[in-house]
Amino acid sequence: MRHPDAEVTVLEREPAIAAHQTGHSSGVIHAGIYYRPGSLKARLCVEGARELYEYCEQRGIRAERAGKVIVATEPGELPRLDELERRGHENRVPALRRIDADELREIEPHATGIAALHSPVTGVVDFRQVAAALASELTAAGGTISTGVGVEGISAGAAGVTLRHGGGAVRAKAAVFCAGLWSDRLAVMAGASPDPRIVPFRGAYLSLRPERQDLVRTSIYPVPDPDLPFLGVHLTRDLDGSVHAGPSALMVGARDAYRLTRFRARDLASTLAWPGTWRMVRRYWRTGLTEMRRAASRRAFASEAARFVPELRTSDLVHGHGGVRAQALARDGALVDDFVVSRTEHAIHVRNAPSPAATSCLALARLIADRAEGELP
Ligand SMILES: Cc1cc2nc3c(=O)[nH]c(=O)nc-3n(C[C@H](O)[C@H](O)[C@H](O)COP(=O)(O)OP(=O)(O)OC[C@H]3O[C@@H](n4cnc5c(N)ncnc54)[C@H](O)[C@@H]3O)c2cc1C
Repeated sequence: MRHPDAEVTVLEREPAIAAHQTGHSSGVIHAGIYYRPGSLKARLCVEGARELYEYCEQRGIRAERAGKVIVATEPGELPRLDELERRGHENRVPALRRIDADELREIEPHATGIAALHSPVTGVVDFRQVAAALASELTAAGGTISTGVGVEGISAGAAGVTLRHGGGAVRAKAAVFCAGLWSDRLAVMAGASPDPRIVPFRGAYLSLRPERQDLVRTSIYPVPDPDLPFLGVHLTRDLDGSVHAGPSALMVGARDAYRLTRFRARDLASTLAWPGTWRMVRRYWRTGLTEMRRAASRRAFASEAARFVPELRTSDLVHGHGGVRAQALARDGALVDDFVVSRTEHAIHVRNAPSPAATSCLALARLIADRAEGELP
């Protein structure tokens, strides 16, 4: 839009867009509460959520500010709830408010807790519809989306960058790589460092039986473990009224492990050969065992959610959908938390765009466009 004469082509390996993380998310428009003040996540989530609501309104996409509560169930969680409240205010999350147990009951009659945060602007949307709207805008402006075109080789020279794929090659003055679960591979192909590596984590959901969906009016989240970049098992009401419990966070053997039993030799080797994997396992093996138990047992999942919705029973849960997250893992075993955007010759790489990157997509796009204008020829 800034350069109407520029020729823009999107190369997508799958037969359709949004086939991976964007098409498998929880559909939550996050408000920006959790993220470290000053981080890209904090800034781009708050800006992005505001812009996304505006965009959905302009484009006629249904997006609802349904609201959400983050519930502390025991005194030991209160300092972390305080910290979330502090972060939320510092990040300028609109209308964020501390509530007591009675107010919690008014918002979520079946939830129990000793204190909570209420975020009325957290919402829900179908990110596949957002992606489709962006795609139609791009093509209407003269851009091209080529599906079924997987980039297999990258070379940069004085004149620009060449992207090789099964059907030939595309030459461009500059390239922006947003390859999600495969972002590290494309960055390395373009000459970047192998650090961080993408390790796939499967996030599976269970759904509440239709007759039990009234246990949840909006979205109910626990106070998360501050050491992990995951939000904990939560209950979310979708636009169609269905309620999902999850997700799990289980390291898996394929970057497209939409079935738990899927393994790919290259993906597994890439995870196991990375020193960061073993450092992470040494640090988080207890959490890993809990996640394995949860993935194997509906009862373990139900008892986690029943901490804040005590009426919830194992028999209320049925099979739900799942996705695979691209989690960037540093060589030293740190789970990279913030968004990471880096450079190679004639190219920009989005190397870590986990949740809330779908919420932040318009703000993140502006950051990429600013860097492209400032740094690329
Ligand atoms: C289970 C789950 C729940 C989530 N819930 C939320 C949520 O509620 N709210 C939120 O804001 N975020 C959520 N997220 C995070 C969000 O989905 C992602 O941050 C976001 O979708 C990332 O978008 P992306 O474009 O970077 O990656 P993707 O959507 O994964 O897209 C990457 C694309 O690159 C393509 N590609 C890869 N390699 C190549 C190649 N060699 N050549 C050509 N194309 C290639 C892929 O086919 C894919 O289409 C969730 C994620 C998961 C997994």
